Order: sequence, then structure tokens, then C-alpha cells
Amino acid sequence: MARTAVPGRLSNRATWRVARLVDRRQETETAATLVLEVPDWPGHQPGQHVDLRLTADDGYQAARSYSISAPVDGDRVEVTVQRVPEGEVSPYLLDVFTVGDPVEVRGPIGGYFIWRVTDTAPVLLVGGGSGIAPLMAMVRARRAAGSRVPFRLVYSVRTERDIYFADELRRRVRDDQGLDVTYLYTREAPEGSPASPHRIGVADLNTHGWPPQLEPACYVCGPTGFVETVADILVGLGHEPRRVRTERFGPTGA
Ligand SMILES: Cc1cc2nc3c(=O)[nH]c(=O)nc-3n(C[C@H](O)[C@H](O)[C@H](O)COP(=O)(O)OP(=O)(O)OC[C@H]3O[C@@H](n4cnc5c(N)ncnc54)[C@H](O)[C@@H]3O)c2cc1C
Repeated sequence: MARTAVPGRLSNRATWRVARLVDRRQETETAATLVLEVPDWPGHQPGQHVDLRLTADDGYQAARSYSISAPVDGDRVEVTVQRVPEGEVSPYLLDVFTVGDPVEVRGPIGGYFIWRVTDTAPVLLVGGGSGIAPLMAMVRARRAAGSRVPFRLVYSVRTERDIYFADELRRRVRDDQGLDVTYLYTREAPEGSPASPHRIGVADLNTHGWPPQLEPACYVCGPTGFVETVADILVGLGHEPRRVRTERFGPTGA
């Protein structure tokens, strides 16, 4: 029994399962959430990701990593994909992949960039662009568990039109006690915005994050340059490096 239990759990993650697309939701002009039904899905923690693998008729295969953007829900796994212009996989997933189509899924992957609903430290989430995906899984898991852990989300986007999960985030801020969301705009700020467009900086994290004395758990996700800038700022502000967890959305395999 014991001999099979551990290898069984490990091989779970290494196994490619044939999933099907069962639903899709457009998030922005260039991003959509794909809802996959994955047979025998072993469950996941908010923050983990999966690998998706596509196989062409001639046998050519391409695999890419995508964060899971919703908490565990039986065999359903949601990922939210941003189009990378000229990319091989993301335009296919957004334009060609249709409900009923198969895709291979491997996961869940990642044991470090995880928030557990039993964690009690205040949480700072900092997302850039599609980096909101695993952070949204955490926001949703907090809600689903009825957690009262204070969450602050700082979300950097190009324009208001690029906000993923916009309606839901508005609802969550209204209904989920202890969740604050701040939007920062890099290209075009909506009218009445307190700040003009800018890249995230010290003042933003000082104002909208937590003081390091509260020992918050910080999760930073987005393009590599964004993540490195934010992590450096947080450490510079006095957050202990071990409390600053990062996930970089560079090209898969980089
Ligand atoms: C752990 C992890 C989790 C990820 N989660 C998500 C997610 O939740 N949502 C999501 O949309 N993406 C996510 N990504 C990125 C994703 O894996 C792919 O890299 C992305 O979809 C591009 O794949 P592609 O085949 O379309 O482009 P490719 O054909 O791989 O690349 C085309 C060109 O674009 C460049 N490029 C590739 N990826 C990026 C990128 N992310 N940013 C800027 N330039 C890039 C390449 O260098 C290349 O020049 C994640 C990556 C990692 C490592």
C-alpha cells in the first residue's frame, strides 16, 4: 500500500490527461478563460499551474504553462490565456480551440507560489497583466472558504479595457469583507483616476501594500521584468525576501 501511495501521487502530476474544453469566457479583447474538464483531476491549490499540450495531425507537439485561475471545483480546471502576437500556442487556444475539443493537461504544478486557505498572515497580491490569473484563484479561494484574512490586490494594467475579471472584482470588493483592490494604469488611465499612467513604483507599493512590520505574505506575478521590479521594491521597503513569492510569466521553458 505504502509503496504505491507516494509514487502514485507523484506520477499524478507527471501524467498527461486528455481534457476537453467545456466553456470559455472572453475576459478582454485579447484574453479568455478556458474551462477544461479533466478526468480524475487530483485537485490543486490556489497559485499552481498546469501544462497544456497540443498535438498536430503530423504528430508535432507544443506545450505551454498556464496558471489555474479558479479554486478547486471537481474535475473543472480554469486557465486564463492572453494572446501573445505571433505566438504558437496562445492564438490557437484563443481563436481555434472550441468547446468539445481535446487538449492534454499535466498538473497541478508548483509547490511554492501557493496560498492556503488556512494561512492567517495578511496577503499582498501584485499582478501585472495576465499575472492576475493565479492571484484571482487566491481571491476566489478566500471567498469560497469564508476566510477573513485581509487581502490587498495591486493590479497593473495598460488600460481599463485590459482588466481581467472586471465585473467580478467589483463585486468582490463590495461583498468580500477585507479585500481591497487598487488599479494602476501604464498607458491610459480612466477619467477621474487619482494618478496618471505610470509603471509601478515604490510609492504605489508603499501606499497600497502592507507595512513590512505586519509580516504579510506577498505574491507577485506577471512578466519577468515586472516581477523583478516589484520584488526588489518590496525587499527595499523592508519585506523579508522569503515572504515575497514570485511567479514569472516569461516564455515557457525560459
Ligand atoms: C509558470 C508559468 C505560468 C504561466 N501562466 C500563464 C497564464 O496564466 N496566462 C498566460 O496567458 N500565459 C501564461 N504563461 C505564459 C505561457 O506559458 C506562454 O509563454 C504564452 O502563452 C506564449 O505562448 P505562445 O506559444 O503563444 O508564444 P511562443 O510561440 O512561445 O512565443 C512567441 C514569441 O513571444 C515571446 N513570448 C512568449 N511568451 C511570452 C510572454 N509570456 N510574454 C512576452 N513575450 C512572450 C517569445 O519569446 C517569442 O518571441 C505562463 C508561463 C509560465 C512559465
